[in-house]
Amino acid sequence: METSFNSLVQTCKAIESTTKKTEKTKIIADYLNKLNSDEIAPAVLLLIGQVFPEFDSRTLEVGWNSMKRVLNSRKQTTLIKETLTIKRVYNTLIEVANVQGVKSRRLKERLLVSLISDSNSYEVEVLVKIIFGEMRIGVNEGLMLEALSVASGVSLNKIKRALMLTGDIGEIALISLTQKERGLSGVKVELFVPLKPMLAEIAETPEGILKEHGGKTVFEYKFDGARVQIHRLGDEVKIFSRRLTDVTESIPDIVKLVRDEFPKKGIIIEGELTAIGSTGKPLPFQDLMRRFTRIKEIDSIAELIPLKLHIFDLLFYDGRLLIDESYETRWEFLKKLINNNLLAERTITDNPKEVASFFELAINEGHEGLIAKRLDSTYSPGARGKAWLKLKPSDTLDLAIIAADWGSGRRRGWLSNYHLAALNDGEYKIIGKTFKGLTDEEFRWMTKRLQALKITENTFTVTVKPEVIVEVAYNEIQKSTKYNSGFALRFARIKRIRSDKGPKDIDTISNIRKKYKKQFTKKDKL
Ligand code: AMP
Repeated sequence: METSFNSLVQTCKAIESTTKKTEKTKIIADYLNKLNSDEIAPAVLLLIGQVFPEFDSRTLEVGWNSMKRVLNSRKQTTLIKETLTIKRVYNTLIEVANVQGVKSRRLKERLLVSLISDSNSYEVEVLVKIIFGEMRIGVNEGLMLEALSVASGVSLNKIKRALMLTGDIGEIALISLTQKERGLSGVKVELFVPLKPMLAEIAETPEGILKEHGGKTVFEYKFDGARVQIHRLGDEVKIFSRRLTDVTESIPDIVKLVRDEFPKKGIIIEGELTAIGSTGKPLPFQDLMRRFTRIKEIDSIAELIPLKLHIFDLLFYDGRLLIDESYETRWEFLKKLINNNLLAERTITDNPKEVASFFELAINEGHEGLIAKRLDSTYSPGARGKAWLKLKPSDTLDLAIIAADWGSGRRRGWLSNYHLAALNDGEYKIIGKTFKGLTDEEFRWMTKRLQALKITENTFTVTVKPEVIVEVAYNEIQKSTKYNSGFALRFARIKRIRSDKGPKDIDTISNIRKKYKKQFTKKDKL
């Protein structure tokens, strides 16, 4: 018999009712063990609030107005006709995502009406959360993997490793539970299925990096562009973005380059694409993004905004997966296979002064900074660790907190997402939000302090008098239509609470505008 969707809703409730990780894990593990095998993948994805695995870029494309119409239609038909099952919910959501074309909005709504009119109010609530990607019951991928390990009795590392290779958590869940270790050990990397990219942690100084890496290490330019993972076999080429979306069609010039320059045997290469101006320097990131968002007249924009590929890794060649080889082995191999002009600029050193001058060179050429990689490090897909460390110039602003959102998951019960504002002629204008940088103790302090400064509140957000000033580090100021200041901060994180400063001492929008303009002095212009 098929398992009801209601059982999943009840499981969500049980998970939400505890803050203890081990209890959450157990609830999920018990639940997974009760499912039929063809329900495992859908249930796992729905519980982590996804319909598709990460590399699948399909989205449901359902707007709030559509959802409102769907919900209204439910009020008119209170008679529930058929019990919802996990499979019916899941398959309908896939259908919703697949509907395209002129009448798609109506068709999507019709599909959703059929689900909603057979749901009780708890089921509706969870459905809406899934549809809008707002599950927030404290089950992320990490916790799901632990639950899978408990449910299957297979070690967490083996499950993680298999997921690393395929990126498909639903499929890995099914294999773990039904075929155990033997099944997982047969999981292989496939050409044209992207691996999750390895990521870097932030480092503050060259000295810190050299200490962490224990002496000689490699520094590559950190290009201010878009990460690409290129797969080629014979004439077939596919290029994936950092978020594992297939971007092949928007960059025919790079596809041609790959066909001309890469070996024909199966190969997976990683690199960064930058947009290049007439002087050869990189263009700002926004110009690069125009290459990826364009769907028509791709050739003319390719001429206007040429791209440059900077290759930095080799993950697979001629049937051999290379991620367990050291960085240096992969690089030596890469050098033999690819025209060296296409490789990223790099230097190997243990001298902080050399690092500083290489850093300056990178910045002066319009790049973002440097990225240090341990020479002996293997490639861990999806992992952000200290084997790769990024060094970027960072700046800070003093900003006032003018509102805060209640946190969820680990930050539940704390006012922990702060709305940051700068001054503009005596008015506070918002420039970004962040929940990064504070310790648990500081979160607690902040929650109390902000509640004492409360002006208004609703379920999610408390607005406050702008009395708490924070020093905020960021990597870039961007233009934004989202915030009323017209600007937004990239990677904002709180460095310190500035109890020594008052609301009149914070940064002004005109100062931020100046900093914004200064960012482009090393870049080219279109
Ligand atoms: P971040 O996005 O700041 O976490 O930094 C990681 C990103 O830096 C990667 O996803 C790449 O897009 C980008 N990147 C630029 N240059 C390099 C490089 N030489 N090696 C690895 N990643 C790089």
